[in-house]
Amino acid sequence: MRVGIGHDTHRLVPGRPLWIGGVEIESDLGAVGHSDADVLLHAITDALLGSASLGDIGQWFPDTDPEFQDADSSQFVLAARDALRERGLGIVNLDLIVFAERPRLSPLSVKIRERLAELLEIPIGQVNLKAKTGEGVGPVGRREAIQAMAVVLVDDVTTDEAS
Ligand code: MG
Repeated sequence: MRVGIGHDTHRLVPGRPLWIGGVEIESDLGAVGHSDADVLLHAITDALLGSASLGDIGQWFPDTDPEFQDADSSQFVLAARDALRERGLGIVNLDLIVFAERPRLSPLSVKIRERLAELLEIPIGQVNLKAKTGEGVGPVGRREAIQAMAVVLVDDVTTDEAS
């Protein structure tokens, strides 16, 4: 078994879309970034890469590369998922937190988890999502930023098959 952790922050401004976990969220503020700025998909990508000691999202998909301008961040997750597969690693579960003052994400939780389960090709029961506010303080609480944290547990599938 191996564990990976990911964390990400994006600034919030008016006039940008807000993507969280591959789902576009209705919001007066959106996230700034080179790609689609999906804070949760970026944290998940880093957690997946980390679990296999494969570095981080910035090494794989540099934000200086025009190829990734306004890119759908789903492709980052898919690339990390495939890299794990190639190494015989299967996802056991993900535990995720999104830190956003507004909008309230709890009503959208199932939709986001469904999308993540689809991307990772795992049952929805292996994807947990928690939504936290910033309690009105700090960059999240003042709605200057949105953040996400991801922890993933992976297992050596080849060893399992052999045993
Ligand atoms: Mg990011």
